[in-house]
Amino acid sequence: MANSYDPRTSTGIPTEQVGSLPRPMKLQEAYAAYDAGKISFAQLEAEQEAAVRDSISRLEATGSPVISDGEQRISSFATYPLVDTLGGSGLGGNLAPDGQYFAIFADGHHRQLPRLTGGPFRYRTYAGDMLKKSIKMTIRPMKQAVIAPSMISLIYPLDEEVPGYPRRRFEEDLCNECEKDIRLAFAAGAVRVSIDFTEGRLALREDPRNPWTGRNMLPYFVELVNRVVDRFTPGERRNIGVHTCPGGDRDSVHSADVPYHSLLPSLFRINAGYFLIQLASERDKESVYREIGNNLREDANGIPQMAYIGVINPLNPRVESAGEVRDALIKAARYIAKEQLGSTDDCGFSPFSIDEKPNYGSPDFAREIAFQKISNRVKGTRLAAEQLGLV
Ligand SMILES: [Zn+2]
Repeated sequence: MANSYDPRTSTGIPTEQVGSLPRPMKLQEAYAAYDAGKISFAQLEAEQEAAVRDSISRLEATGSPVISDGEQRISSFATYPLVDTLGGSGLGGNLAPDGQYFAIFADGHHRQLPRLTGGPFRYRTYAGDMLKKSIKMTIRPMKQAVIAPSMISLIYPLDEEVPGYPRRRFEEDLCNECEKDIRLAFAAGAVRVSIDFTEGRLALREDPRNPWTGRNMLPYFVELVNRVVDRFTPGERRNIGVHTCPGGDRDSVHSADVPYHSLLPSLFRINAGYFLIQLASERDKESVYREIGNNLREDANGIPQMAYIGVINPLNPRVESAGEVRDALIKAARYIAKEQLGSTDDCGFSPFSIDEKPNYGSPDFAREIAFQKISNRVKGTRLAAEQLGLV
């Protein structure tokens, strides 16, 4: 499975997006019309297809060495294996719509997961199924984001046992499905697969309105992710990443008040090859750079870990300049070995398919800005690499 993609080739310092882009208003309307029974799945698919095509050609134009399909075909980064739309169409077997809140965001809105009602647990859709369709549209290297087993573990009720399906058996099925999800993404042609792990930081939140966040679940989450990641060879793990962030939905966050120093030492215990780390929106960036430098492992069971630091804030419409991106990386290189440094955006630009992007005024405008931000990330990363003698 080792592939020949070298993330340094075009920018000197590797740079990679998390995954999602805002869905065009037209596509969001199509999702709503499909949920309301007004259009067929084929009609929804035609809109998804058009949005993916546009996403890919515009990402190509940013000069990014690796691109995604903007996740235009899925309900959300977390729910794609379970349900076709956020309105609940195509809910998978053994699931009911009324599960735990995944998160309650700072602006008061929440997102809910389905609830497991029986076994066995199987994914309805794999990320690779989507990539197979999208990858035909480009000759550029493509990445794929997948959801972490820890997020999906939250569909199992927190305290009760699912009749006839103990948690231990669910976890086995879940880890098998996550492994398959990653393998299918690589098989479909992904050069990189990153695992979305936003619930890692939220696990430290202790929000009384959301009971699972008060159960000290981070060590369990890290163990679950490693149960999957450790099934891959060192060569494969170099191309498996983990994304951490405090959330980024409707331009709001769920765990920005959880300090990084309580997360990062645990995070880097995951035996992944690279980490996509929200940082542009952190107030005290230097202390986080230092924390990363102190905890990033040079040997994670046979491979060095890379830290891709967030230099773009998708929740803020202001476009970061290439110079700002360069300066952030130069500063980070004081604390993080330059060979282990990369750049990314703080989060996907719209992890959920229905997202009004309120700070921008409209998803279509947010989409325009996203491409400008990504272009500047690529340019600024290249400038930093020149300054650090990496090209
Ligand atoms: Zn994120």
